[in-house]
Amino acid sequence: MSAKEEENQRFRDFLGEYSGDAIDAAVFELNETISAQIDCTTCGNCCKSLMVNITNEEADRLSGHLQQSRNDFDAQHLEKGSNGLMIINSMPCHFLANNKCTIYEYRFSGCKEFPAMHLPHFKERLFTTFMHYGRCPIIFNVVEQLKDEMGFES
Ligand code: SF4
Ligand code: SF4
Repeated sequence: MSAKEEENQRFRDFLGEYSGDAIDAAVFELNETISAQIDCTTCGNCCKSLMVNITNEEADRLSGHLQQSRNDFDAQHLEKGSNGLMIINSMPCHFLANNKCTIYEYRFSGCKEFPAMHLPHFKERLFTTFMHYGRCPIIFNVVEQLKDEMGFES
């Protein structure tokens, strides 16, 4: 385990001492400031590494937009993930070009939610948050500033 991984593990344990609501409030505030400063179109790391679950409705909507039959769309773009749900079958995602989503209006709810710093229950998503800590500058900066705000000794 690297020194940073060890530090992050200690921080996760440290968060256990605090109320989820207080942490959410601090994360929301940090996220607002940090997200406004980061241009996702210069990054695109989530679209290069996420396994986004896709619902039938989302696949119907996008296949219609692409003027493909569902069979063709599924064969070309989807596979079953280990959890039995449909996921995109390529990484980076088929729909990423020049770090931009080419089907932005039709992107999936998992894409819209990431990195989920605006959602409640931060403490319940620590596993996935820290999985993407090294890839997502928004997560990285929120976590590092949260450490400072909470007086965590790194
Ligand atoms: S659908 Fe768009 S936003 Fe979602 S992973 Fe693919 S490129 Fe990224
Ligand atoms: S990894 Fe984070 S910063 Fe990069 S594009 Fe995705 S949400 Fe934006």
